[in-house]
Amino acid sequence: SENHLFAALAAAAPSPAKPLALLADGSSVSYGEMLALSARLAGLLAARGVKPGDRVAVQVEKSWPCLALYLATVRAGAVYLPLNTGYTLNEVRYFLGDAAPALFVCRPEIEAEASGLANELGVPCVETLGADGTGSLTTAAAAFPPTFDDVPRGPDDLAAILYTSGTTGRAKGAMLTHGNLLSNARTLKQCWRFTDQDVLIHALPLFHTHGLFVAANIVLLSGASMFFRARFDPREAIELMGRATCLMGVPTFYTRLLDQPGLTRDATAHMRLFISGSAPLLEETHRAFFERTGHAILERYGMTETCMNTSNPYEGERVAGTVGFALPGVAIRITDPSSGAELAAGEIGMVEVKGPNVTKGYWRMPEKTASEFHDGYFVTGDLGRIDARGYLSIVGRGKDLVISGGFNVYPKEVEGEIDAIEGVVESAVIGVPHPDFGEGVTAVVVPAKGASLTEQTVLEALEGRLARFKLPKRVFFVEELPRNTMGKVQKNMLRDSYKDIYR
Ligand code: ATP
Ligand code: MG
Repeated sequence: SENHLFAALAAAAPSPAKPLALLADGSSVSYGEMLALSARLAGLLAARGVKPGDRVAVQVEKSWPCLALYLATVRAGAVYLPLNTGYTLNEVRYFLGDAAPALFVCRPEIEAEASGLANELGVPCVETLGADGTGSLTTAAAAFPPTFDDVPRGPDDLAAILYTSGTTGRAKGAMLTHGNLLSNARTLKQCWRFTDQDVLIHALPLFHTHGLFVAANIVLLSGASMFFRARFDPREAIELMGRATCLMGVPTFYTRLLDQPGLTRDATAHMRLFISGSAPLLEETHRAFFERTGHAILERYGMTETCMNTSNPYEGERVAGTVGFALPGVAIRITDPSSGAELAAGEIGMVEVKGPNVTKGYWRMPEKTASEFHDGYFVTGDLGRIDARGYLSIVGRGKDLVISGGFNVYPKEVEGEIDAIEGVVESAVIGVPHPDFGEGVTAVVVPAKGASLTEQTVLEALEGRLARFKLPKRVFFVEELPRNTMGKVQKNMLRDSYKDIYR
C-alpha cells in the first residue's frame, strides 16, 4: 500500500532536473532537489518522534524548504498544519493548544518565545525555519538521506488541518484527507488544462488553501514550473508574464494590476489563464481586465473546508459576478436557511456542497461538525443563487445578511448599486444594531481620490434604484476597507467600529 497523496505527486514528477520553483534571485529549485529535501525532512520528522497522524504545526515565511516541509509531513504520514504568519504569539498559543502538535516549526526570530510556549503547552519539539530557508530544521535535515520510505496512507487519512481565515469568528481547524486534496487537485488540473508546459506565477501565501493546495498541488501534479515569490508585486508580475502562462490571485491582485499602466494586451499575450478566488471579484474588475488585456478572468469558489467547489469554464463563457459551475464530482444545492428545503433555480439561499473534496469535519469539534452537515451536504455559510444555465453566484455570507425591519437585505445588491455611483471605488454594506429596525443598513464607502461625495449625494443617487428598506440609513466614508491577507473584507471589524451609531 502506498501514500495516497504523495505517491500521486511523485508519479507526476517530470525528470529530476526540471525546474519546479523559479526563485526571485534567478536561481531555481528542481523537482529532484525538492523531492530530496522532502525526503531528508521526512527522515528528520521521524527521528524527532513525529508519528503517523501527529500534527506538524508550521508558522514560517514562504520559502521553498517550507513547501518541502509540507511534502515531508505528508510522506511521514503526519498532518500538516500551517499557520498564518500574521498570527501573534497569543493566537499561536490557541492553535498549538487546540492542535497539540508533535513539532512546531517557527520563524528563527521568535524561537525563544516559541520554545517557552511549547514547554508550557507540552509541545515536545521546536525547530526553526527562516525566510531564506536556513534554520535548525534544514540544518538538521542535511544529515538524513535523500530518499525516504513513505508511510502508507489511504484516501481517508488526514493530510492536513487548515484553520479557516477567521473572517466570521474564531478560526476552526478543517481536517483534510489525502483523498480530499488529491481528488480536488486532479479535478482542477483537468478543468484548467494544466500540463508540464505551464509556468504559474505563485505569489500567494503557503499557509492558506489557495496557495498551498490549489496552486502548489496543481503545479506538482502537472509537472509544471512556478515563479515562486514571497509576495505579490504587480510590476514584477507583469514582467514575469512574458515567461509565465498562468496567474492565480485574490481579487486585490487584479485591482493592483489594473493600477499599472504596464498591464496591456502585449504584456499578457504569453499568458493563457488568469484565475481569481478567495474573495468576490467585482464585475467591474472583470470587465476592466478584459478591456485592457483581452483575458476574461476565470473566477472559482472554494473554502478551507472543501477545497474548490465551482469554477467558471475554461472553454465557454466566464460570466462576471458568478463563480461558475459545480466541479465534476461535486454536487451543489441551494436550500432555504430556515426550513432546509431545496430551492429552485434563481432563488437565493444557503449554498450546500457534497463531494470527495469535502472535509471530514472540524478538528476536535464534533458538535460543530454535526451542525454544519445537512443530509450529507456541507453547509458553506455562503448565500447564493444558481441561474437557469447552472452558474452559481455568491451573494454574500449568511452572517453578513442584514435583516432590517424583518426584511432580508443582501449586502452585495446594495454594494453593487453604490459601486455604480460616479466617484465610488468600492463599498461594504453591513447591518448595525438599530432600536427600531433590529439592524440598520449601513454603507461604508471608499471614494475615488478627489471625488466630492457626501452622505447626501450617495443617498440621492440610490433613490429609486433600491426598495426603501434596502437603502442605507447612514453612509460613512473611509480611505480603504479593512482586508486580511487573502483580500477578504473584514466586515466583523466594520460592524464593531459602527456598532453604536444608532443608539
Ligand atoms: P471563517 O470561516 O473562519 O469565518 P473564511 O470563511 O473567510 O473564514 P476561508 O475558508 O479562507 O475562510 O474562505 C472561504 C470563504 O471565502 C467562502 O466561504 C466565501 O465566503 C469566500 N470566497 C471564496 N471564493 C470566493 C469567490 N470567488 N467569491 C465570493 N466569495 C468567495
Ligand atoms: Mg468560512
